[in-house]
Amino acid sequence: MGTTASRKSGKPERHYMSWTEKRIELLKKYWSKGMSASQIAETLGDVTRNAVIGKAHRLGLNARPSPVKGPVEKKPAPKQPKPVEPSPKRITLLSLTERMCKWPIGHPGEDDFHFCGAPSVAGQPYCEDHCRRAYQTPAPKRDRVRPPRL
Ligand SMILES: [Zn+2]
Repeated sequence: MGTTASRKSGKPERHYMSWTEKRIELLKKYWSKGMSASQIAETLGDVTRNAVIGKAHRLGLNARPSPVKGPVEKKPAPKQPKPVEPSPKRITLLSLTERMCKWPIGHPGEDDFHFCGAPSVAGQPYCEDHCRRAYQTPAPKRDRVRPPRL
């Protein structure tokens, strides 16, 4: 502390622009037209841009229509394609049932090891296709017996 506040009185007296009804009307008019505060100040004359803004705010004119911007385009949210996850129907030992082909595919212990899982032939552990592969051993000709036709 210790500074002596010295009043400066050499400043030119502040100029207060009086807002006459006519000028307020003009201000409203120009404002609603979308004129900028400085344009309005210039047009009205004898008033600063800040004074125009201040008055406009006091008059509640800040919600002015913006002449530049058009209607905001509402873009529909981009539809994101649903990630299609390939769902390989892997038949594990747990999902095997009596009526499923138990033909192992891949190597046991490997990640993609699974069972065929196709409907098995009645009385067989495998599907038709795998039955053929399982019993590929050519039957001796002499033992070939034709099943009786029903
Ligand atoms: Zn099979």
